[in-house]
Amino acid sequence: MSEVIRCPNCGQANRVPDLAGGKKAVCGKCKTPLISMNGDGHPIALTDANFADTIARGRSVVDFWAAWCGPCRMIAPILEQLASERRDVRFAKLNVDENPRTAAQFHVQGIPLLVMFDNGVERGRVVGAVPKGQIEAAIRQYLG
Ligand SMILES: [Zn+2]
Repeated sequence: MSEVIRCPNCGQANRVPDLAGGKKAVCGKCKTPLISMNGDGHPIALTDANFADTIARGRSVVDFWAAWCGPCRMIAPILEQLASERRDVRFAKLNVDENPRTAAQFHVQGIPLLVMFDNGVERGRVVGAVPKGQIEAAIRQYLG
């Protein structure tokens, strides 16, 4: 089994064998270690303080959510699943009530809202609790 991991440093797509069991791989071009974008297989919790730094490199899908939002609870398990399945895209979530600065910066009006970033630059959005296939299609469309 192998998979393609995009280098977080130079962007080179590397085909690497299954890294289960703690095996490590490095980028064929620049030798940067290739690690999963989702360290422990769960979406990363973002805050106003760490948002910009965390998404600055690589491809990210950020779920803007709130505790009172029913549809957000429907989409959360899908993001958990994607974070555990994929290493090439970072999955993260931002609580809009606790982090109003970032929510305002991205003019978040309706949630759940998924915003796709490439090296910190917004590439596209998906609004609402959409099915997993639609999220994956949006990743292909916006993040190549
Ligand atoms: Zn590289």
